[in-house]
Amino acid sequence: MSQRNDKDDVPEFILENARSSEPVPQTDRIYANKVLNLGNIKCFGFDMDYTLCEYISPEYDELAFRVAKTHLVKMVGYPEGILNLEYNPGFPVRGLWFDKELGNLVKVDELGQILVCIHGFRKLERAEIRAKYPHEIQRNDKDRIFIMNTLFNLAETHLLASIIDFIDSEENIVHTENGWILSGGKGKKTLTFKALFQDCRETIDYVHMDSMELKKLTVADLPRYVKKNSCLLRMLRNIKDGGKKSFLLTNSDWWYTQIIMKYLLNDENSDEDEWMSWFDLVIVDGQKPRFFSSGTPLLRVDKKTLEKIPVDSVALDSNPGGLVYSGGDHTTFTNMLGVLEPEIIYCGDHLYADVVKCRKECDWRTLLVVPELVYEGTVIQNERNILKELHHLESILKEDVPELEDVRIKVSDCIQRFDTAFSESGSLFRSGSRLTYFGFQMLAWADLYTGSVANLGRYSLNQRFVPPPLVLPHEIIEPVHHIPS
Ligand code: IMP
Ligand code: MG
Repeated sequence: MSQRNDKDDVPEFILENARSSEPVPQTDRIYANKVLNLGNIKCFGFDMDYTLCEYISPEYDELAFRVAKTHLVKMVGYPEGILNLEYNPGFPVRGLWFDKELGNLVKVDELGQILVCIHGFRKLERAEIRAKYPHEIQRNDKDRIFIMNTLFNLAETHLLASIIDFIDSEENIVHTENGWILSGGKGKKTLTFKALFQDCRETIDYVHMDSMELKKLTVADLPRYVKKNSCLLRMLRNIKDGGKKSFLLTNSDWWYTQIIMKYLLNDENSDEDEWMSWFDLVIVDGQKPRFFSSGTPLLRVDKKTLEKIPVDSVALDSNPGGLVYSGGDHTTFTNMLGVLEPEIIYCGDHLYADVVKCRKECDWRTLLVVPELVYEGTVIQNERNILKELHHLESILKEDVPELEDVRIKVSDCIQRFDTAFSESGSLFRSGSRLTYFGFQMLAWADLYTGSVANLGRYSLNQRFVPPPLVLPHEIIEPVHHIPS
């Protein structure tokens, strides 16, 4: 198989940067939460969707939103008016929790304390939040909470908010604590937030997996929905040239994977399977997070017939290149790759399925891809004065000053101004000075994080990543107060 020299595709400033040891621009940096020496890594694993394959926003989110709302109306019987709902890219942020009992989108901190609460598109005031949620809410309450963990969930977040907003403003409805009583041609009908959530969830599952409508529409217009990033090839070449191994591990099936990967890595003169030569192993239908615990039976995919064939242990030992596996588990593949668990780094975008479960169940290291990072980093830089003002006001709140209520109002105003600079639902990582559940989990579990996986190509394979010093509250050095004599 011939491999294309993609040097012409790589912007000159990137090559320059690799040659000189100039610092990587902030937007393209890899950030460390743990010490990690790439020199000790022998194998790089890659997730596909939203990692190697970056979907174009808001076009892809709009497509998912449109397909889902159409399904809800045409197949599930939701009102025709829902077809007129439009996707507003400025509304959703990833990482919100949907409360199925009260129909709210909530942003919480690591303990489940509510930072922001939205019903439809209406933000609730603090007093209202306190009345509705006298206690913290917990992620383990699966009956009540669904976490919008991935970028795929952006369309779902918007769908729920806009349908709740739509039904709330309908005439002839009665609001109940857990939903509505609707009056229609066939008499009265109860619709709970839980039932609405279930219908939306099943619809999203259906358009991704059963009908594959979303995937079929994506592959029909790849330049519209998928970013083609020439820096990916450079990164994969660096890995190969550095004598390291690599593999692809995706939850997508083979049919979709090969179309996307060909689009990303092949050119018009490539052989069909040329993209596969960049990987020592290709694993589809990975079923993460289960892949990191019990796993699923290991099968081999016949690339022509798409048939899945059980794999015997003899084939496992020889592992000839060009094979595609379906399912399996992390132990089997670590053995097949001939490395130790801590010598693998897995790069993925799903905080729970690619990183938290991976770190809890096995010793692979992790790099979390957070596409929002570039935008969020820019907003933080632009709004740093508001953040400074907020820190100052919060320091006054610690004192026993007479104007406490005034300061509290100023603090809320500051948080509001800061949060809305990111999106109508605020930032992925924080609300004011407090970290969101997502921000906290990322800090605790991801060894490294970055905005695009291709940023790996900007670093030497011997790069040692070191986190900034962690300071506990009691270790903060405060200015010395002189006691008057
Ligand atoms: P990965 O990120 O490459 O492991 O693949 C993610 C796969 O999960 C893609 O095939 C998506 O279409 C699919 N997916 C994402 N969200 C959902 C969902 O909510 N229901 C069902 N499939 C999903
Ligand atoms: Mg993914």
